[in-house]
Amino acid sequence: MADTIFSKILRGDIPCHKVYEDDLVFAFLDIGPLSYGHTLVIPKEEAATVDQLSDETAAAIGRVLPRLCRAIKAVTGADQFNILQNNGLMAHQAVFHVHFHIIPKPGVSEGLVIEWAPGKLDPTEGAKLAAALSAEIGA
Ligand code: AMP
Repeated sequence: MADTIFSKILRGDIPCHKVYEDDLVFAFLDIGPLSYGHTLVIPKEEAATVDQLSDETAAAIGRVLPRLCRAIKAVTGADQFNILQNNGLMAHQAVFHVHFHIIPKPGVSEGLVIEWAPGKLDPTEGAKLAAALSAEIGA
């Protein structure tokens, strides 16, 4: 995987405002916040997209995310928030080291503003798709 700005932050080569660190996970303030308290949570493991993460690192991120959210809520006073995780250029990923955004939502037009254009799930297609996905996962 190519070296990214987040690898440099992990190595201490460039500064950041660190919020949290354990053996597997690191969190710091986003340099271009969408709202006050916008925080990035990254694995120490070098992986570009979330599907490439080891189970161990995925579990470590999952364990700490709610705690970080609670801290961000308490400190910012915003009781609503989004968690955003982009994978790939078209999906709005700019830094190719896995990261989870925690973005406080203090007001309707603040924080993450999402365009959402829902389709309609056909029941037959849905059954086929769910079965194919289950088979692929091995569940
Ligand atoms: P994404 O579009 O999901 O890849 O988001 C990348 C995020 O990284 C953006 O929100 C940037 O503001 C943030 N970012 C880029 N460089 C830095 C940096 N040096 N320190 C903190 N955040 C950064």
